[in-house]
Amino acid sequence: MLKRSRASWVVSAGRGGGQPGDPLNVPPILASNFVREGDSVYSRGDGTATTAALETLVGGLEDGRALAFGSGMAAVSAVFDHLPVGSVVAIPDDCYQGVVMLCDAGAKQGRFRVQQVELADTRAWEEAALEADLLWLESPSNPLLTVADLPAICAAPRKPGAIVAVDNTFATPLNQRPLEFGADIVMHSATKFIGGHSDLLAGITVTNNDAIYEQLFERRTLGGAMPGAFETYLATRGARTMALRLERAQDNAAELARRLDDHAEVTVVRYPGLPAHPTHEVAKRTLDGYGAMLSFDTTGTAERATEVCRTVDLIHYATSLGGVESTMERRAVMGGQHHLPPTLLRLSVGCEDVDDLWADLSHALETTK
Ligand SMILES: *Cc1c(COP(=O)(O)O)cnc(C)c1O
Repeated sequence: MLKRSRASWVVSAGRGGGQPGDPLNVPPILASNFVREGDSVYSRGDGTATTAALETLVGGLEDGRALAFGSGMAAVSAVFDHLPVGSVVAIPDDCYQGVVMLCDAGAKQGRFRVQQVELADTRAWEEAALEADLLWLESPSNPLLTVADLPAICAAPRKPGAIVAVDNTFATPLNQRPLEFGADIVMHSATKFIGGHSDLLAGITVTNNDAIYEQLFERRTLGGAMPGAFETYLATRGARTMALRLERAQDNAAELARRLDDHAEVTVVRYPGLPAHPTHEVAKRTLDGYGAMLSFDTTGTAERATEVCRTVDLIHYATSLGGVESTMERRAVMGGQHHLPPTLLRLSVGCEDVDDLWADLSHALETTK
């Protein structure tokens, strides 16, 4: 249970004993097994104090019980694997491509039926809630930055037993808490803003439903999806500065979004904080901050957009997001992303100086005309 502001919580939570002589940080405990008749037996099921520190930190931020996984996709898979065969799953029309591919694979195997729902169409989600066993939402979405009306969707009458899960990776627990809106599961790729340094893979689920917690715990144990000690330790260490990093990065993102919006070589900018963004009004209600992710379309061809990525220097031409360093790539190259404009570039804004970022971006846009 969170008793402090989230900015203090990320710094203080999951510190361990606090007894004289204890280390200030829970160290990476490199152990698969433990002496019998204690609390821990084998790490694949129980984890270690290192795992517990990360789970305490993220669970407190989301106000639920967290489970750490070896990657974001391992956490996603645990949610999908716990569905009975034949379940109906609703996913957004714009969604992390790994989830789309997981759904395609599951549908081909006959494990579940998948329905794609327009993320901004709240009525369509309300209808889907009457038929689907799992509503899988992602808000803001990757990479169109569409914001879903989570309070309305979570409150909609559901098919009995249906659950709502929200991929909260882009918002972070600092900007949005889906469990407060009535979601059953929150999922994070801790690889991104929680870890924050592009040096680890980890995932998290958080739920305030004990039965769901037990099912996800079982899926993690049987699927063998426990994260390694070192990654878990790094994720906690990275999370200590999440509030600070996010504050800087989202200030930068807001400024870059405004400047890109005025640039002659850019046709569309998608950032939930821009008043003209299609779901800006929903974003104002559901988010505490507009985040550090944006996407924009360049003028010209897909090849030109790629050339912009090759030309930037301070910004890395790389996939992934949520690090202290800015990264950018063209997203239509990813599998399952046929709905995207070919010149769409996704920019994960980091903690560099905003004028340096702008100089880098505007130089790349000018020299590739
Ligand atoms: C990266 C990402 C994932 C998958 O997480 P991994 O840690 O790469 O397995 C899921 N959802 C979103 C929104 C992501 O950005």
